[in-house]
Amino acid sequence: MSSWTDREILAWLDEQLSVERMAAFEAELRQNDSLRTKVSNVIRYRDQGGNSVGEIWQRGKLSCPTRTELGAWVLGALTDEVAEYIQFHLHTIGCRMCQANLSDLEEQSIQAADAPIRRRRFFESSAGLLREHADSGEFLSEGP
Ligand SMILES: [Zn+2]
Repeated sequence: MSSWTDREILAWLDEQLSVERMAAFEAELRQNDSLRTKVSNVIRYRDQGGNSVGEIWQRGKLSCPTRTELGAWVLGALTDEVAEYIQFHLHTIGCRMCQANLSDLEEQSIQAADAPIRRRRFFESSAGLLREHADSGEFLSEGP
C-alpha cells in the first residue's frame, strides 16, 4: 500500500509537488506496483472528467491562491474550507511559488508590526528610557 492520496497524485501530474515530494513520489512509483495502478486510475479518471465532490474541489482550486488570499490566510481571516485548501496547497503539495509569496508576506507583516515599536524605541531612547524595553522583542506576531 502507498500512502499517497489521489490529490497528491493529481498534484504530481500537474507538477505541483515540491522537489522533495516529487523525488519521493517518483522513487516509490518505480518500485510500487500498486502505486502505478493507482496513478493510472487517477489519470484515467481525470481524463474522463471525474466528477466527485473532491475532484471538483481539487480541479477548481488546484491553481495557486491569490496573494490576497494568502494574506488573508496569514491573518486567519478565511473560512475553514479555504484555509484548509491553502494549508494543503502550501504544506502537502509544497507549492514553491506560494511558499515564497508567503514568506514575503510574513516578512512584510512582521516589518509592519515592528515599525511602530522601532519608532517608539527611538523616542524612548531619546528620552533616556530605552533600557527597559530594548531587547524584549515584544509584539512580534507568530502567524497562524
Ligand atoms: Zn501555489
